[in-house]
This record gives sequence, structure tokens and C-alpha cells, in this order.
Amino acid sequence: MANPLYDTLFGRHAGRRTPFLIPQSGPVISHADFLGLAARIAHALVDAGLSPGDRVAAQVEKSPQALALYAACTQAGLVFLPLNTGYTVEELSYFIEDSGARMVICDPSREADLAPLCDRCGAQILTLGADGHGGLMAQAARHEDRFETVARSEEDLAAFLYTSGTTGRSKGAMLSQGNLISNAVTLAEHWRFTEEDVLLHALPIFHTHGLFVATNVCAVAGASMIFLPKFDAGALIELMPKATALMGVPTFYTRLLGDERFTRELTENMRLFISGSAPLLAETHAEFEKRTGHRILERYGMTETNMTTSNPYEGERRAGTVGFALPGVELKITDRETGAELPQGEIGLIEVRGPNVFKGYWQMPEKTKAELREDGFFITGDLGRIDEDGYVSIVGRDKDLIISGGYNIYPKEIELLLDAQPGVLESAVIGVKDADFGESVLGVLVPRPGAKIDPEAVMAAMQGQLARFKQPRRLEIINELPRNTMGKVQKNLLRDRFGG
Ligand code: ATP
Ligand code: MG
Repeated sequence: MANPLYDTLFGRHAGRRTPFLIPQSGPVISHADFLGLAARIAHALVDAGLSPGDRVAAQVEKSPQALALYAACTQAGLVFLPLNTGYTVEELSYFIEDSGARMVICDPSREADLAPLCDRCGAQILTLGADGHGGLMAQAARHEDRFETVARSEEDLAAFLYTSGTTGRSKGAMLSQGNLISNAVTLAEHWRFTEEDVLLHALPIFHTHGLFVATNVCAVAGASMIFLPKFDAGALIELMPKATALMGVPTFYTRLLGDERFTRELTENMRLFISGSAPLLAETHAEFEKRTGHRILERYGMTETNMTTSNPYEGERRAGTVGFALPGVELKITDRETGAELPQGEIGLIEVRGPNVFKGYWQMPEKTKAELREDGFFITGDLGRIDEDGYVSIVGRDKDLIISGGYNIYPKEIELLLDAQPGVLESAVIGVKDADFGESVLGVLVPRPGAKIDPEAVMAAMQGQLARFKQPRRLEIINELPRNTMGKVQKNLLRDRFGG
């Protein structure tokens, strides 16, 4: 029976003994093995009484079995709901209650803590440990490795993916089968993924980057993945000669550059390095090219839309930009007050429309209405501009925009100048309350290892380069910027700390 997402990603590989997952240790899992694993899990879920459309929440460590759980949900027509492994039991209760999950799969160490909550919510609970063992797999082992695929249409929901919560409480984005298929097919083509590719997979699989971008692209192309439990520069360096591509957040790249074993020779077999989820500094881009000869390909997307823009595969990969709208995706820049489209070159809200755009936020009709226009454009909440060659760059988030004395101040402009000051490794600019101007600019600086920052010299340099209203009124020096698991700077925490 037709199940477009399952058929496109997984079903097409039925019977193939080609490698799909290559764990750091242990046997390689072929496409056929993976499908068998997924089928057994699908039986276990259906046996537990789940029916199509039911939500399966999973807070589990990364493992081949955890990925097979995603394929199993797809095959059984269940809605997969992966959760950040960093969430506490307290935080999990929001997601479990909010989503109305009927099944919760968790690490064995969490079972006792979650059982009362699941009881209360009428959800069943099964375990899956980092080693791929637990109640779920014990159930799955009792079943055969073939499962009659449940019929679905492209309109049916495939996943609830909660946003990273960088700007506030996470929202459950409802993603349909069609949303995921369109992006997987487009990206695999755009980035030229084939059966010959071996992706170094070191991202978490509870987020759109590691789950949908990395996994779906490889699945659709028939590529294989070296499947690492987490990012570890040493492991990546050891395995890189066996791989052809890497997808990472910017921190992956700065960490690799920080290791002298990471050389041009080491990357000889690699054809593509992709970065996303957070801005890649132009400096990292340049240093990476100098070291390896490769130009990192930066792309842009979010939970609600999967990927929307990408630098070109062939053609100039321009540092500091996220490239062009992907084929099939429309992108425009609009006035944050009126919603009218702005002329090329002006800064405004990035809006996108296409088959990749989600169906709305789960149980948040007001928010959905406010952000998803009737004509299908989604207001991303990111501010950006399009340059004369059509490259999109992100200026920051609308929520981080500083309005001082009626003027708009884009933190990125100031951050780029601060980053270039002697002794500065990186910076974050935030707005803090100001009695006269509403908000004023505060710069948070992180020193390079062993370096000392001279705040007065930095202030003096800003005076020479920025209009007065944009100049930081205050500088704070801290050892590290607060970041979430995806490497995103949590400016709300900085505002809390320094008086936003
Ligand atoms: P929340 O919506 O809950 O506050 P979040 O927006 O961080 O969290 P995600 O959907 O994981 O949750 O992240 C999408 C955001 O990540 C984008 O809206 C954008 O701000 C940022 N982002 C993604 N790729 C890039 C990139 N290449 N450059 C700059 N920012 C990026
Ligand atoms: Mg967001």
C-alpha cells in the first residue's frame, strides 16, 4: 500500500545488502537489516495498541535502533516525536502532555521517573537504551522482520518536531509526509548525494538537522552514514578518510580547525562540508578553506520549514550568506510592520513558501495564524536581506532586534565589528533596558584563549566605525557564550543576566 514517505526513504531499499549505517564499533547495518529492524519495531508499536495518527514521543540516545524507531513510525503511520536528550523529567512533562503522546519511549534510567506522568496522561511507556537494548527491542525481537506498510498520503502528519526553544518555549511543528519528502528529494539533488556517498553523522537525531536533513537525504539517495553517538573531533578525524561528506553546526568546524591533525590530506576523500543551524563566521569559512582547500557550504532552515536556502553546489559559496532559495521554495523579505515586500537590498523579515512549509503549530491556533499567512507564506522570525546577486544573508532574529530611540539596530552588524577587535574570539550584542532610549546596546565579548581584551580600546574602535546610536553603551567580558545543544547562542539568557 502506498505510504509516500516510507516508500521514498526506506521502502525503495527493500532487499538491498548495501551499507546504510556504519557504527563506530559493531557490525555494519545494511539497508535490508535496517528495514527489518524497523518492521519489528513497527509490529511492537502496533501490538501495543497504537493506531495510525497516534503520537510516539521518544527521548532516547542516538543509536541505529533509535533511527529505526523513526522508520517504524513512518511505516506504521504513527507520528514520530523526537525529544532532546538534554530535557529534564520536569521539561519532558510539558512535551508529553502537550503532544498527547500515546506511547513514550525513554532511556531505562528515566523509566521510573516518567512512569507516573505517563500513567496520568494515559500513555504507555517502553525503554530503549544507548546500547540499543530495552523493553522496546525485547518486544520487537518477538516479531518478524516484515511489516505490512500502512497506507498514508502526503497530507498525513509524519512528525511533530519541537523547535529548539532558543527564543522561548518550544513549539510543536506539525510536519506532513509531503513536507519531509519534498525537502529530502530537493536537498539530495541539490547537494549531489548518491549511493557512493558516506556521510559522517555526528549530529543528534532529535533535531531537524541530524534527523531530517542528514538522514532523509542519505536515505533518499541510498547513501550510507558513519553513525557516531555524538560529536567528537578525534573520532571525526580518524574516520574522515572513509567519508565523503559532513553535515555540522558551526562548532564542529571551529573544533576541527582547533585540532592540528585536521589537515588538507585528511580531507582528500571528502567532497562536501555543509554547515547550518547557527551562523558560520566568515572567518571560520576562510580559515577552513586555507587549511583544507574546501569551501564550506552554508544553508539555512528551521524546524517549521526544513531547509529553505542553500549556497550553490557549483558556483560561489559566499561566506556570511546562506545562498539562494532552494528549488521549489519562494523567499521574500518583508516590512516587519506592514508585511509588504521590500525592495532588494533592504533588511526585513524573511518569509518562505513551498511544499516544505509545515502545517502549523500543534494546539497553538493563534500562533499559527500569526506566523503562517493565508497565502502560505511562513514568517520565519529571522531578519535578512538579499544582495544584488541574490544571496540571502541573515541579520539576526526579529526578537533580538534592538530598537533604540526609535532606530532599528541589527546586532550582527555590531558583532562583526566586535569580533574583529584584538583579543576577541566572539561576541553577542543584545538590547538592554534604557530609561532614555527604550533600549541601548550592550556587547558581550569572549576573549581568545590566553588573550586579554582592552574594553576601552574596543569602545574607541566602535566610535570610529559606528553611528553613535549603534555604539555599545556597555561591554561585558565572559568566558563563554551560553549555547543550546545545536550551538545557538541563547540571547534571552544574556538579556536575563545583563538586564534585557
Ligand atoms: P525557537 O523557535 O524555539 O526559539 P529555534 O528557532 O532556534 O528555536 P530551530 O528551528 O532549531 O529552533 O532553529 C531555526 C533557526 O536557526 C532559524 O530560524 C535561524 O534563526 C537559525 N539558523 C539556522 N540556520 C542558520 C544559518 N545558517 N545561519 C544563521 N542562523 C541559522
Ligand atoms: Mg524558531
